[in-house]
Amino acid sequence: MKKKIAILGSTGSIGIQTLDVIQNNKEYFSAEILIAGQNSNLLIKQAKVFKPKIVVINDESKYQYIKEQLKDERIKVYAGKKEIINAVKNKSVDTVVSAVVGYSGLEPTISAIEAGKNIALANKETLVVAGELINNLIKKYKVKMYPIDSEHSAIYQCILGEEKNKFEKIILTASGGPFRGFKKSRLEKVTPDEALNHPKWKMGKKISIDSATLMNKGLEVIEAKWLFNVDPDNIEVIIHPEAIVHSMVQFRDGSIKAQLGVPDMKIPIQFALTSPYRLDSNFPRLSFKEKLSLNFEKPDLYTFKNLKLAFQAMKEGGNKPCILNAANEVVVDSFLKKEIKFLEMSEIIEECLNKMEYIANLNFDDYVEVDTKTRILTKKLINK
Ligand code: NDP
Ligand code: MG
Repeated sequence: MKKKIAILGSTGSIGIQTLDVIQNNKEYFSAEILIAGQNSNLLIKQAKVFKPKIVVINDESKYQYIKEQLKDERIKVYAGKKEIINAVKNKSVDTVVSAVVGYSGLEPTISAIEAGKNIALANKETLVVAGELINNLIKKYKVKMYPIDSEHSAIYQCILGEEKNKFEKIILTASGGPFRGFKKSRLEKVTPDEALNHPKWKMGKKISIDSATLMNKGLEVIEAKWLFNVDPDNIEVIIHPEAIVHSMVQFRDGSIKAQLGVPDMKIPIQFALTSPYRLDSNFPRLSFKEKLSLNFEKPDLYTFKNLKLAFQAMKEGGNKPCILNAANEVVVDSFLKKEIKFLEMSEIIEECLNKMEYIANLNFDDYVEVDTKTRILTKKLINK
């Protein structure tokens, strides 16, 4: 039986690579529903190739155009947030690939879980903002969540078959991004273009900036906490510039397992869709015959303060990770528009974390309110 897939964010970096995986394994997967933000032309192109049952675009002004372009296809076209929510609940779907960027992934991911869909999760912000709520829903609706993020896929692969064995700690690797080794004085003048130029991964803009500031690793630490139910003190981050070791798990006997491979997101995407089984692939292989050096170093938390802030937010819990995420989304957007400088991003996030009132227990509406209020405060601080 083919696995029927909905892709939330089909026009993004992860969405496009998910469609590549589906294209290469047509006997196993079908793309039933494609959902995009505003890139109507790419959505139309994808729809013509993959013939999904439904396409949805968030930007309602693109609806007529898409409808017109797909008039000869047997594809239903919808637009707007409500229709995205409806689409992920559609009966014809088994698995939802959650690959939109940022907080906007939270609500549709929750809807998919409530409709009993398994989730292949790229959208780490969902777990950062509301990890506890999501885990409760996963239990309640008896669905599975498979990580796409390469580090979390690595950890997941390391602990497969180890269910009866406790692990001592998780070691998340980080490439260090384009500014690895830079000190604050050098970071003062870096531009969005330089920050977007990641040495190892070609990704969407937001995660590329997050990688340059190490916020991505901070978000991943929180993501790991919720995915693997691990105590914050047992998560370690180590810089590994080659991005070959995707992460490691240390067990109670001191043994360490690692997952390695060339940096290619299609590997974890495919595994998230087939786990615990593996499919053949023609992805490039890692060669040990060529000179291969693997280096590791401590992250510089003084210069890249975001990682420190994320650890603190995780330990404090409650609404802190939600504040961290919302403030980060606003400052990244502002940095990309050249309204603020690189180092100002961490300063503003920290100020938001200090200024927002602490709330220990939150329901969905509380998260929405914290997110909204944080965004307002962040914008105020930017325009100060
Ligand atoms: P992109 O910016 O490349 O893609 C984002 C996708 O989300 C696009 O399809 C975009 O549509 C869509 N989108 C944005 N806002 C909305 C909305 N409100 N409603 C519906 N669709 C929306 O991001 P990435 O693919 O790089 O990242 C996606 C997620 O995966 C992020 O959470 C990221 O952290 C995570 N991730 C990404 C990795 C990577 O290698 N790229 C690696 C690990 C994790 P459109 O373009 O049409 O506007
Ligand atoms: Mg990652």
